[in-house]
Amino acid sequence: MQALRDILEKTQATGMAIGHFNIADLVLLKAVFASAQELKVPVLVGVSEGERDFIGVRPIAALVRSLKEEFDFPIFLNADHTHSLARAVEAARAGFDAIVFDVSAQPLEQNARQTREAVEALKAINPAILVEGEIGYIGTGSEIHEEAPDLSKGLTTPLEAKEYVESTGIDILAPAVGNMHGMLESMVRGETRKRLDISRIAQIKNAVRIPLTLHGGSGTDDEDLRKAIAAGINIIHINTELRVAWRRGLEEGLAQQPHEVVPYKILPFAVQSVKSVARSRLSLFNGDR
Ligand SMILES: [Zn+2]
Repeated sequence: MQALRDILEKTQATGMAIGHFNIADLVLLKAVFASAQELKVPVLVGVSEGERDFIGVRPIAALVRSLKEEFDFPIFLNADHTHSLARAVEAARAGFDAIVFDVSAQPLEQNARQTREAVEALKAINPAILVEGEIGYIGTGSEIHEEAPDLSKGLTTPLEAKEYVESTGIDILAPAVGNMHGMLESMVRGETRKRLDISRIAQIKNAVRIPLTLHGGSGTDDEDLRKAIAAGINIIHINTELRVAWRRGLEEGLAQQPHEVVPYKILPFAVQSVKSVARSRLSLFNGDR
């Protein structure tokens, strides 16, 4: 089995990106895994602190490990947006492959100092673990927002990215390049799309030369995603689009069988709905295969 680090290096060399999908239950995990299996591409499963609280830190680690081993498949587990060292350590001890240590709400200097301490503590637990740091502002919550946050002041500059990467020793950087968490109503309806600052991505990549993650990928213009990958993005996070698909699928399963109570007859509708979104995103991230 290849390590996540090797797969990341390969995607950097081949101009593709690894899809990162947040999950909170078995429906989402089944859908994401099935789409990756069909396309034969590596995949990252992410759980935020809230998602971990629901599914359990050790249960999700055991589930992903069992899929990896049973199918000899490159599926990896990421502790998404972890805001404290205690929760990062908990995930590292449970066997997570990667951790997003996110104290980006702090001033940059404090963010850098705390992230450097987290990198040291986490590598002491597992030297192979990948630690991602985040700078800039990309909004909060993978939900449907009524208004767009003002992202303009929180965009990452190549110089601060370089200094931050050098001072922290992180493996992966999550910059703010026009991306945003969550979706607007108009994006859910397909009327508007997020646009990315492609030249900023290229400048940051040139300055740091480590893998870059695009958070808040839901609702982004497809062509911008392709250009972002070409400019140096290596991991793309999709959450809200899956949540919307999960709800739509669940509603369809309930509506089509108003008297059904058997979960495994209702939930496959949600699996199918999520799977079609995950498959389309994975296909795009891996060169439209
Ligand atoms: Zn995120």
